[in-house]
Amino acid sequence: HNHIDHATAGAIQAAIAAGDTHAHIPDYQGLADYRTDGGYVELQRLRESGDWEQVQEKILSSGLRGLGGAGFPSGTKWGFVRGNVGPRYLAVNGDEGEPGTFKDRYYLERTPHLMLEGMLIAAWAVQAERCYIYMRDEYPAVLEILRREIKALESEAIVPKGYIELRRGAGAYICGEESAMIESIEGKRGLPRHRPPFVAEVGLFGRPTLVHNVETLHWVARVCREGPQVLNSVEKNGRKGLRSYSVSGRVKQPGVHLLPAGSTITDIVSAAGGMQNGHSFMAYQPGGPSSGLLPASMDDIPLDFDTLQPHGTFIGSAAVVVLSDQDSARAAALNMLRFFEDESCGQCTPCRVGCEKAVKLMQADHWDMPLLEELCQTMEDASICGLGQAAPNAIRLTMKHFKGEVE
Ligand code: SF4
Repeated sequence: HNHIDHATAGAIQAAIAAGDTHAHIPDYQGLADYRTDGGYVELQRLRESGDWEQVQEKILSSGLRGLGGAGFPSGTKWGFVRGNVGPRYLAVNGDEGEPGTFKDRYYLERTPHLMLEGMLIAAWAVQAERCYIYMRDEYPAVLEILRREIKALESEAIVPKGYIELRRGAGAYICGEESAMIESIEGKRGLPRHRPPFVAEVGLFGRPTLVHNVETLHWVARVCREGPQVLNSVEKNGRKGLRSYSVSGRVKQPGVHLLPAGSTITDIVSAAGGMQNGHSFMAYQPGGPSSGLLPASMDDIPLDFDTLQPHGTFIGSAAVVVLSDQDSARAAALNMLRFFEDESCGQCTPCRVGCEKAVKLMQADHWDMPLLEELCQTMEDASICGLGQAAPNAIRLTMKHFKGEVE
């Protein structure tokens, strides 16, 4: 996964360095067009005479939750950060390393200023002294777009020079975990921190830090400009709001599909043009490998925050991968664990050794299910961060729903 991305990234960066930028930078809405469209009017108005609590109320009533995977209510987070003594910082998590997730890239390659304005509104709300954007190095076009547009914001005096700092990731999945990302921005190895204290209290350089995902900020700008109804007026299957599902696998039209948050896998497959010819729907990954696999028979669950919990999984970053009768759930689960083994930061034993042992056990003809369950429990109970805690999902769900393949 990462190795292929790196090779491509290297080639594109070499082309950009050689001056060949146009071929690789997609058409996107630049600063002038964004302003013609009414962009940055809301930020300016808020900076002059805004009441941050009113904006917080708007965000809360929109129902906006963190779209990087954790789903924490965004307005509540602002209150925590603002409640701690400054100086405070804001950090944008643009690492987007969960395999199958590409929505942040999609938005940044089209309307980067929605994220940038959302970031500046959030920074204004918590009175952040500086903003850091941690961007995945495998997205060279996005990096180039952000370099240009941050410079444009500085020359139009929308931000002082140096107020926004763009940092490149280096291909480590774990640096998408917020405390590891903060360590990485500080120039250290990306090892997740123990919590508490939470980053809202002790974050970047020991200061209170507001961490938001790229897409979350995109919606902050839209909610501020268009009102909370842009999200809270959409209702389906008892769920409110919209989700940007990154859809891939055996569907006719993979890509980012913006759908009501209460959509089921049936709705998502149909929005993605249906199954590819010759493939029938067999299983799906609802939200990245950390969410494991569900069988096609479970096709009536709204894929939203909280709704998957009773089924032993979660929506995460909404990276939906569709598998067909030509795939194997067992092979997919093994692939997921190999990924975790590769990307474990190695800091704690249950995850570092647990992922490696799990891969060995999953390579056997017949899975030793009681032993795997014992290993899953240890990893879930004793790992420091979400990687080790969620890795067992793929194993457990495969044992539960695809028993015939592993017995
Ligand atoms: Fe590192 Fe895994 Fe422990 Fe997280 S759970 S701190 S990735 S070893």
